[in-house]
Amino acid sequence: MEDTYYSESSELDRDKLRQRIRDYVADQGWRISGEHREESGVLPIVLDGDAERYWQEAGTAVARAGMRALLFHHTTGYSLPDAVRLADLVASAPELSTVALAPAIKAHSLARWDEQGFFRLLNRLMFEAARPAERYRTLQHFYRCSERLIGRFYAGRPGPLDPLRILSGRPPVPLGRALGCLLRGPRRQPVPAAVARRGL
Ligand SMILES: Cc1cc2nc3c(=O)[nH]c(=O)nc-3n(C[C@H](O)[C@H](O)[C@H](O)COP(=O)(O)OP(=O)(O)OC[C@H]3O[C@@H](n4cnc5c(N)ncnc54)[C@H](O)[C@@H]3O)c2cc1C
Repeated sequence: MEDTYYSESSELDRDKLRQRIRDYVADQGWRISGEHREESGVLPIVLDGDAERYWQEAGTAVARAGMRALLFHHTTGYSLPDAVRLADLVASAPELSTVALAPAIKAHSLARWDEQGFFRLLNRLMFEAARPAERYRTLQHFYRCSERLIGRFYAGRPGPLDPLRILSGRPPVPLGRALGCLLRGPRRQPVPAAVARRGL
């Protein structure tokens, strides 16, 4: 059982979430026979950023992986698909020294950053352009798309027409503010956005 939602703050009220999951279970008429493990956390999503500058400051003296190599999905905050891609890169590297791997990982990370431009735009549309009460509509529309599209989205590799499919229909975003996000780019001071999820 899992409860995931987007939030503008990183606060997590575990008791409230626990109760929400129990209420859902009760509504379904299910009975919990046991609780084996529980996890909770707050993951970041990305509105925008300067990946080149991040890597300039990080340097390549040590090879990085995971979140510290910016290798995560900018809308879900998940990192498994990017971890697999990085494992492939390392496994096929001709040399496993830091000197060889660190710059290769940096180049891979910057390429992945560029590939995720649509996800950052989607985040800005949800968190900067949409009225807070309407934000859910974008995701509601998304989860009505085909399973294959949803799979490509979670894998962080949307097809060429997927952005159009995801943004099609009557937008839950005032047109002027959406155009502002498209033309102007993000605000200099992005709204702190987080996705929080917990499981029972
Ligand atoms: C509740 C929850 C559910 C999630 N569900 C999913 C999911 O379904 N799919 C998915 O893909 N992702 C999911 N994620 C996200 C995923 O877990 C993280 O993105 C991923 O663990 C990040 O991996 P990482 O290696 O970058 O960092 P971490 O997993 O945080 O690993 C970093 C490690 O480095 C150690 N460390 C830190 N500093 C030092 C130091 N100075 N010296 C030595 N060791 C140090 C830490 O203790 C830690 O073990 C979830 C996260 C949460 C919290």
